[in-house]
Amino acid sequence: APATGSGVLAGLDPDQRAAAEVPDGPLLIVAGPGTGKTRTVTHRLAHLVLERGVPAQHCLAITFTRRAAEEMTERLHALIGAQAQRMTVATFHSFGLQVLREHHGELGLGADFGLADAARQQEILTAITGDERSARKAKAQLSPVRRGGEADPDIEAVLAAYLSGLREQNLVDFDDLVVLAVQLLTDHPDIAEQYRRRYRWITVDEYQDVDELQYRLLRLIAPAGANLTAIGDPDQAIYSFRGADVGFFLCFERDYPSAPVLALTRNYRSGAHILDGAIRAIAPSTLVADRRLHPASGRAAHRIAAHQADDERAEAAFVARTIDQLLGGASFHSLDSGRVLGDGPGGIGFNDIAVLYRADSQSHAILDELTRCGLPVQKRSHDRLSARPGVDLLVRELLHVAERTGPVTDQLRMAAKTVTDTVPEDTRPDVHTAVELLGPLAQRCGEDVQRFCRDVLLGAEVDTLDPRAEAISLLTLHAAKGLEFPVVFLVGCEDGLLPLRWPGTEPTEDEVAEERRLFFVGMTRAQDHLYLTRAALRTIRGSAQDRQPSPFLSTLGETTTQTETAARRRRRPAQLTLL
Ligand code: ATP
Ligand code: MG
Repeated sequence: APATGSGVLAGLDPDQRAAAEVPDGPLLIVAGPGTGKTRTVTHRLAHLVLERGVPAQHCLAITFTRRAAEEMTERLHALIGAQAQRMTVATFHSFGLQVLREHHGELGLGADFGLADAARQQEILTAITGDERSARKAKAQLSPVRRGGEADPDIEAVLAAYLSGLREQNLVDFDDLVVLAVQLLTDHPDIAEQYRRRYRWITVDEYQDVDELQYRLLRLIAPAGANLTAIGDPDQAIYSFRGADVGFFLCFERDYPSAPVLALTRNYRSGAHILDGAIRAIAPSTLVADRRLHPASGRAAHRIAAHQADDERAEAAFVARTIDQLLGGASFHSLDSGRVLGDGPGGIGFNDIAVLYRADSQSHAILDELTRCGLPVQKRSHDRLSARPGVDLLVRELLHVAERTGPVTDQLRMAAKTVTDTVPEDTRPDVHTAVELLGPLAQRCGEDVQRFCRDVLLGAEVDTLDPRAEAISLLTLHAAKGLEFPVVFLVGCEDGLLPLRWPGTEPTEDEVAEERRLFFVGMTRAQDHLYLTRAALRTIRGSAQDRQPSPFLSTLGETTTQTETAARRRRRPAQLTLL
């Protein structure tokens, strides 16, 4: 359907537009991947501000990752200009941080409280448990408990000692950001009321992955009848291991009974075969009763390519070779010039390509091979606030902000380089050192230095991928949610990885369903080209294992063409003779 109307909603189709125009009160939008959920919610905010006179500072947009928040800010900027800066676009954690910062006194935190990095957490826990192994084990058990899970008395005691260890050093940890915000707003109804007055319009994207604490936070700032828009896809719920629960869709309908429930049905992202394949893949465990999802992208419908390689090396080599072909065979050589936009036949560049995997350990073979071929790669790091990436990211962020506020001079670039070069490798972002060094640069950006730097450093923890970098993205399937790429390689489509199986155990039915949703999320990131690869033999923890194809592959039917590496075909002359 063509876009209709004029004004800021002109880029939406009639269903999206209807959703964006719902006047007041709660609203639930349930729709499949690529149907423009994020686009609709962004345009809704722009429409509120530009066409309905809602002051931008009354809008709070919650997204799931820092990168998603960044993208939304940029899109809002394009739609409504400078007013976008007055909106709050946050993740649940960065919103929690804001609440803590504004009310640290009530929580007994010093004004300059910091965020404990993984090393500091480990240090505190080791002091409590006596050795590093027990500390790691305890750490894994704490998060679920803090989200309201059951705990035995031993863990409760460790938690209490750990928290007082943190507070002695005026630190909070990542979980604290939401836990303490909920505690504060529960204990101080007057403060909760202030937030409700400030944020009269709230949107939550990727709603399917809220967990219990986040839902409680939401209820505190958006009671029944509030102008709350929740938007999501139950079939993309992939965080139940972290406490997310699609049951919160049901909670929404119960707690916001006046909310209309709207659907979007046109997928603008993927070619028809990719979409068809993805729908077949999710079908056995779909949570959406009457899924209507039709291709609307007008993209060439390339079939999904399923490729079996001999082993993980050959799988990585296939990825590298295919990328080279897609880029017109120029990519391996043209890097000498420093900056390459692999302008392949379809105008494909490096940042149009993503390699997705289930387990982080899979990334090594891929990273090695792509790097060996001279292909630029960026991998999302889950390193928690290690100093180096933190500072690098900070500098990059400051430069981006600076770019928006005016020309970036060589002098500024030099200043940035000096910071990157001089912050010692072994600094643990000691935030204060970084702030001191970055002060002049940050001031140039017209920001409150302390606050901005701390935000960025905190953000560095959740997300260190730069969408603007001219590089191939390496991502876990979890990290890929919400994103899209013209070319996607989903590697390791094998039983044991998809679904993931821990040694000596069988996944439960629920776990298989969640793995299937993860596979669905991965497939639906692709716009034009989707490659599902697997290895016949994979070395896992030092031992070579025969691998079977992922059972999810068998659902794909004629949406998919199969290939194998030449080496393997050659090894089976008997079959060829038979033909
Ligand atoms: P996901 O479930 O993966 O988060 P989504 O539903 O949020 O997907 P979007 O990312 O908002 O989908 O949109 C998918 C793609 O389709 C984007 O590139 C977006 O710009 C494009 N798109 C969405 N709606 C339209 C439209 N009406 N016209 C043209 N392009 C559109
Ligand atoms: Mg989205």
